[in-house]
Amino acid sequence: MSGTVYLVGAGPGAPDLLTLRAARLLGEADIVFYDALVPEEILNLSKGEKIAVGKRCGKHATAQRFINKRLADAARRYEVVVRLKGGDPMLFGRAHEEIAFLAKEKIKVEVVPGVTSALAASAELGVSLTRRGVSRSVAFVTPRRGEGEAPSQWARAAASADTAVLYMAAGDAEAVRKSLLEEGLHPGTPVAIVENASLNSKVFTGPLKELPSIAARCTGGPALLLIGEVLRELAEIGDVPHFSIRVA
Ligand code: SAH
Repeated sequence: MSGTVYLVGAGPGAPDLLTLRAARLLGEADIVFYDALVPEEILNLSKGEKIAVGKRCGKHATAQRFINKRLADAARRYEVVVRLKGGDPMLFGRAHEEIAFLAKEKIKVEVVPGVTSALAASAELGVSLTRRGVSRSVAFVTPRRGEGEAPSQWARAAASADTAVLYMAAGDAEAVRKSLLEEGLHPGTPVAIVENASLNSKVFTGPLKELPSIAARCTGGPALLLIGEVLRELAEIGDVPHFSIRVA
């Protein structure tokens, strides 16, 4: 007999964007393995043992194989094992590797979705990612490639969607601009970078051709790059320190 591993989305950062299910499971967890972007206020919902296995690009990361094994070991000792990931666990979170490993070990896995940062960024900007007559498609994309991974057609996917949201991209602005221009995007296509969406967010905007200087204004927090015509009005206003429409 073994316990269940719950892959739980912690949302984009603001603790009150956590789902009720995630909060309940944290309350029940015997042990929590969490990523680097998960805020303390959320971790404090658990009285269980807490283990950081975070990866923040470029910094020390616990090897995925080791995380998989620790999750399986924990499930053999405890009933409720929570694997807490930033945003939604099924987007750019290596969920597949954990699910596949645990399935092979015959350990039960359940996934609890979370608010992905792209949707928090859209909310922050007050810009709908789809819009009648302007945008009927949205692509979630990353140019980031792990060691040993085959190259992807990310730029083609981003260029063919009406709106693209790029994860893990703000640090490679020069290469991202080059790839997108090569795919035929107009240099004047509006872009927005949202840093720390749902927290003390910052927004930087401008045309694609200026992407490197726009990205250079980031201050080191997690950031998303949004591209597409839906951002035109916003990009023409210029940077917005913190825009939010709250409907009471
Ligand atoms: N599973 C996560 C994404 C993990 S990849 C999700 O669904 O959001 C990590 C990347 O997500 C970061 O490099 C950044 O591009 C983005 N990200 C995560 N939290 C963010 C936030 N609060 N604001 C802006 N971008 C964020």
